[in-house]
Amino acid sequence: MAIYLDYNASTPIDPQVLAYMIEVYSNAIGNADSRTHSFGENARKVTEVGRKSVAKLLNVNADEVFFTSGATESNNIAIQGLREYAEKTGKKHMITTAIEHHAVLNTMKHMEKEGYKVDYILPESDGRINPDEVLNKVREDTLLVSIMHVNNETGMIQPIEKIGEELSKRQVLFHVDATQSCGKLVTELQKVKYDMLSMSAHKFHGPQGIGTLVLKKKKYRLPPVKQLFYGGQQEHGIRPGTTPVALVAGMGKACEIALVKYKENSIKMHAMKDSILDLLKNSGVEYIVHGAQEYCIPSTVNVQFVGVSSEALMIATKQFCGISNGSACTSKSYEPSYVLKAMGLSDQEAEESVRISWGTDTSEQELKVNLRELLNVVKSIQG
Ligand code: PMP
Repeated sequence: MAIYLDYNASTPIDPQVLAYMIEVYSNAIGNADSRTHSFGENARKVTEVGRKSVAKLLNVNADEVFFTSGATESNNIAIQGLREYAEKTGKKHMITTAIEHHAVLNTMKHMEKEGYKVDYILPESDGRINPDEVLNKVREDTLLVSIMHVNNETGMIQPIEKIGEELSKRQVLFHVDATQSCGKLVTELQKVKYDMLSMSAHKFHGPQGIGTLVLKKKKYRLPPVKQLFYGGQQEHGIRPGTTPVALVAGMGKACEIALVKYKENSIKMHAMKDSILDLLKNSGVEYIVHGAQEYCIPSTVNVQFVGVSSEALMIATKQFCGISNGSACTSKSYEPSYVLKAMGLSDQEAEESVRISWGTDTSEQELKVNLRELLNVVKSIQG
């Protein structure tokens, strides 16, 4: 049977998370905002337990955690939600990178149509953003800097700690898309100074359809974001709509598990990456690993098999493994990865590259067996 190696697209739900969600779906009936009966109170208690677990993982206060449908929505609120403040202050310049997820990139492009100015910083050839390049672009009218923590295609860890430290001394808001690092780079993320942070639960064994926007308070005040649509007062009006109690509970449980296990998981992920790199090294195939691996998350590798079309390879190896080329959100219309191209790769080099990503429940044995099969296919194509 094929092994699933596309954890950066989505991870399998942890059985403990699922069991807890079923319990909540079965027992915590009602609307968490109903004030007239104990059912509402009970549902509310469950969501607040979830909120505390998210807060604990990120080392923020529970009243800085806002539930959304996921990182796409969180990113949109963090950027588009600043319109009113931007109008008031006349700050309409933003800085981001050319390798952000489309949830940031396309939101920025939309804002440009409204008259905002955006600088897109290119990565170095090793996949990393130079923090000084970001900081040098800051102007008097800079409203926001939005940088991802870990790139979803290459796994490259970006220097957000330094950027956050510097921006905290200036009057510029800092948003971090931590979708690929949340629950994994736990202590690293806890140290970062940011105003807003986005994440999705399904990237670390929680349920799909729920995420968080963290809004960090400064002098007791939240960052000046406004809701994108109107409704009730849920999530302080920043994200109106009935709270999905079981999804929140599931996200909370995933955070609790991540907090207990992240060190152990990291060791396991590193060992697995070493095995994959060894397999590649000893395979006799011609390949290039993209990105400086000392700055790469241990659960991702982006590899180019020279002369082998990634599309053809994925079809030819479907029975062995589920891998990808580019993010799932762009995979309907295949174009060579804009992330790899921003790193200086040609269309062809990018088209020959695949992303392999794994997780805490990946069997190393199964992974090795199936990757050997993939490498045999590569070898037969390369001749
Ligand atoms: N940002 C990054 C870095 C991602 O990897 C993803 C998911 N691929 C998102 C944002 C969007 O997450 P979601 O689809 O869960 O909203």
